[in-house]
Amino acid sequence: MSDLKMRIKTEALRLGFSHCGVAQNDTLEQLRPFYSAFIGRNGHAGMQYLETNFEKRLHPELVVPDTKSVIALLWNYYPPEIIPEEDNFIISKYAYGVDYHGLVRNRLNELINFMKLSCGNIRAGAFVDSGAVLEKAWAQKCGVGWQGKNTLIINKTAGSFFFIGIILTDLILEPDTPETDHCGTCRNCAEACPTGALDTSYQLDIPRCISYLTIESREEIPAGLRSNLNDRIYGCDICQDVCPYNRFATPHQTPAFLPSEPLMNLRKKDWIALSETDFNTIFEKSPVKRAGYRRLMHVIQMPPPIQT
Ligand code: SF4
Ligand code: SF4
Repeated sequence: MSDLKMRIKTEALRLGFSHCGVAQNDTLEQLRPFYSAFIGRNGHAGMQYLETNFEKRLHPELVVPDTKSVIALLWNYYPPEIIPEEDNFIISKYAYGVDYHGLVRNRLNELINFMKLSCGNIRAGAFVDSGAVLEKAWAQKCGVGWQGKNTLIINKTAGSFFFIGIILTDLILEPDTPETDHCGTCRNCAEACPTGALDTSYQLDIPRCISYLTIESREEIPAGLRSNLNDRIYGCDICQDVCPYNRFATPHQTPAFLPSEPLMNLRKKDWIALSETDFNTIFEKSPVKRAGYRRLMHVIQMPPPIQT
C-alpha cells in the first residue's frame, strides 16, 4: 500500500470510521442501463432526489471537478443494546441516537483537512446521503463491501449496520480491489421480508418496503401491507437482522448514537399518548424528526385492515 493511502486509512480509523477503501474514478457508466430502467419503471417510487442529476451520478467529476479517486468509508451504528421490542413499537437501529448526517460529514471533513495538510491544496468533497453520488456502487468498487440481495452494503467480516461516507478528490491514490458478491445461495433476507419487497434478488421494491412506507412516503399505507408492519413505525431492520454476516456485527463506540433514556423507556401506551411537545423533546436531534410527529402518529394510530 502506498504510504499516502496508508496514512489516510490510519487517520480514517483514528477518526472513528471502521473501514476505508479507495477506487479510481473510472466512471459508473456501466450502470447506465440498470439505472435508466430503474427510473423508467418508477422503481424510485417518485423520489425526486433519485431522479435528478442522472449524469452526475454516473460521473463524479461532474460533482467535484477533476475527481481522480473515490474514498468510501463505513461508520458502525450497530447498537450495544436493542431497545426492548416486547409491548413496544419498533424504530430502526440507525435512528436510536442523533441524526448521523452531521456527525459523519464532520468526520469526513476532518479527514479531508488531514489530506490537505499532507498533500497541499487538493480538491475534495464529502458526501453522506447527499449530492449526486451512488454511494453503494462506490463502496463496492472501493472494496469495503458488496451490495447484497437486500441491496445494502455488506462487509464480509463486520456485516451491514453501517453509514456510508464518500470523499471525491482530485488526489491520485492507489485503488483497492473491488469487493465481490458473497451472498451465494442464501435468501434469508428475501424469505424474512414481511412485505415481499425483496422478491427479486438485488432489487428493492421500494413501494413495498416498510422503511419507505414509514419514513419517506406521505401517502396512506396500503391496507394490504398494514398488518405486515408488525409494530414497525419508523424503518425496518429485518433484512439486516437475518443476514448471516451480521453475526459479525460489533457494537458501535459512538455515544451520540445511543438512545436517550426517555426513548429507551417508551412502551406502546407511551407512544400512543405521545404529545407533539414530548415528540419534539425526545426526537430533537433524531432522524425520526424526518418523518415528523403527524406521520409517526398516523402510522401508530393506523386502523388495522378490514378483514374480508
Ligand atoms: S427493510 Fe424490511 S420491508 Fe424493507 S426490504 Fe428490508 S425486510 Fe423488507
Ligand atoms: S441475508 Fe443472505 S442473501 Fe440477503 S444480503 Fe445477507 S447474505 Fe445476502
